[in-house]
Amino acid sequence: MNLKELYQEIILDHGKNPRNLRKTDNFNKDAKGHNPLCGDKVHIFLKLNENKKVEDISFEGQGCAISMASASIMTDLIKGKEENEVKEIINDFLEMIKEKDNLNTKLLEEDEKTKLMCLSGVKQYPMRVKCATLSWHTLISAIDKSQNEINIESKEI
Ligand code: ZN
Repeated sequence: MNLKELYQEIILDHGKNPRNLRKTDNFNKDAKGHNPLCGDKVHIFLKLNENKKVEDISFEGQGCAISMASASIMTDLIKGKEENEVKEIINDFLEMIKEKDNLNTKLLEEDEKTKLMCLSGVKQYPMRVKCATLSWHTLISAIDKSQNEINIESKEI
């Protein structure tokens, strides 16, 4: 199996059987995101404890395989991280999707980075980039409480 096939397999797996597709009990942060270009919708729920650590993260929504896989992989990797670590991972991912060949963060294991790199294929398809970044921008909104509902169309990447 080559790398491209491995990446496709991981996306299909997460797209068909999304992890953390549910609503967190007693969540204390949430935000909704919408990608009208593709019809993807996501609602992210976060439970941060008193040390600003992510005790639980989940999502509800529907959309294409890329958007569902991205939300599924993201929530898997973010659980257990502290808020500042979450922001570092988000920035690293968005920079990778935008322009970099690799992820730089030391907060993730190699196999975790491989899961995120699966989504790097969207770079060749600008329309799909929005599908891949929707849940990430929505997570930023949830953490910062900047907007309750974001429209990915207005985001640069
Ligand atoms: Zn989509």
